[in-house]
Amino acid sequence: MANSDAIVSVKSLTFGCHILEPGNAAGFRTGDWSSQTPVLDKEKCIKCGMCWIFCPEMAYNQQDEEGYFIVDLNYCKGCGICAHECPKDAITMVEKEG
Ligand code: SF4
Ligand code: SF4
Repeated sequence: MANSDAIVSVKSLTFGCHILEPGNAAGFRTGDWSSQTPVLDKEKCIKCGMCWIFCPEMAYNQQDEEGYFIVDLNYCKGCGICAHECPKDAITMVEKEG
């Protein structure tokens, strides 16, 4: 279910949703409209970083103190690529609530 707080008028979007200002796409919180979220099973994870490499949103932008890759859900669009590419099936995609 998409986050209703993130709904904006189509008139407020740039043509083609292009980013016109120099810098980056940090303002585009793709996690606002995702319907699924990745959940990590640390028992299976070998900290190989394939999820970090393949994520098209660069949502795995940090590691915890033990070296596990942490997903920033603000930028996870729920595509499931990380779960698909994980060699240990350590990531499960689950439906978001609400
Ligand atoms: S791809 Fe899988 S095993 Fe590798 S770091 Fe990510 S979650 Fe862990
Ligand atoms: S589900 Fe897609 S966007 Fe989210 S962390 Fe995995 S690869 Fe990245």
